[in-house]
Amino acid sequence: MSQAPTRAEPPASSCAAGSPYRLVRRDARAEFEGNRETRVVTVGGVPVGGPRAVIIAGPCAVESRDQTLAIARACRAAGADMLRGGAYKPRTSPYDFQGLGREGLEILAAAREETGLPIVTEALDPRQVEEVAEFADCIQIGARSMQNFPLLTEVGKAGRPVLLKRHWGATLTEWLAAAEYIAVQGNLDIVLCERGIRSFTAGSYNRSTLDLNVVAALRRETFLPVIVDPSHATGDDHLVPAASYAGIAAGAHGLIIEVIAAATDSSLPLCDGYQSIRPAVLQEIVAGVHSSVEASARGRRP
Ligand code: PEP
Ligand code: MN
Repeated sequence: MSQAPTRAEPPASSCAAGSPYRLVRRDARAEFEGNRETRVVTVGGVPVGGPRAVIIAGPCAVESRDQTLAIARACRAAGADMLRGGAYKPRTSPYDFQGLGREGLEILAAAREETGLPIVTEALDPRQVEEVAEFADCIQIGARSMQNFPLLTEVGKAGRPVLLKRHWGATLTEWLAAAEYIAVQGNLDIVLCERGIRSFTAGSYNRSTLDLNVVAALRRETFLPVIVDPSHATGDDHLVPAASYAGIAAGAHGLIIEVIAAATDSSLPLCDGYQSIRPAVLQEIVAGVHSSVEASARGRRP
């Protein structure tokens, strides 16, 4: 018996009414319906979702002024567009480094002052949002917080663009419904970030599996820009260049990449050293991404 083809997770509703995400779906806005256009989100003057891929780079965590400023300068020199770095860190163990908090935010502000790079940094708790918004150009919501609904509501009111990372176990519908929590507060300046999902390969050759399909599916389902995090999606600095190019080829509008200083041993950072790439590798990725985006804009693959 022939069966109608099915999708693993069809859209919850084919129209806005009754959908768990009514404001962020592509067909909610006439200008985006039936095309592949993206609503550009501007972060500290940098457009995300336009024709130029955006590269956000920096340490996993702000550990000190010297470490952050050195990496920020190297990222700037490598061609990055924004600086990332956590001052409040969501750590799996309560015994691990939890971040420098306000001191970390002040260090990020100093790095922005010197390099001109806008800052992307995480808020973990609704009570931190006001403070993080004072310093950040874009507030990151980490994978673990994707369904922290009070936090989503608070960042929706903060007057800053939001980088919403996908939880490693979330479906596309759950992720867009989380984005909707921000949108219903009147904030449509949301950038989605695919950072790898949990699969049976976790702990062998990688930490997570980069879900390239969801990047292409999001381009169909929403007008929000989407970026890829090849660092958390692999957990291995050797896999980061391939994951970066693959993400862009799948339709991502940019990348967020963890970087370590050239002279630092990978075992030294308090957080995610082994997945952090060196500035020289970042420079190669930046150049490769920009030339591949130009090549595909000209109608051919690199
Ligand atoms: C991070 O960006 O450093 C981070 C903790 O990422 P995620 O929330 O995706 O695990
Ligand atoms: Mn990290």
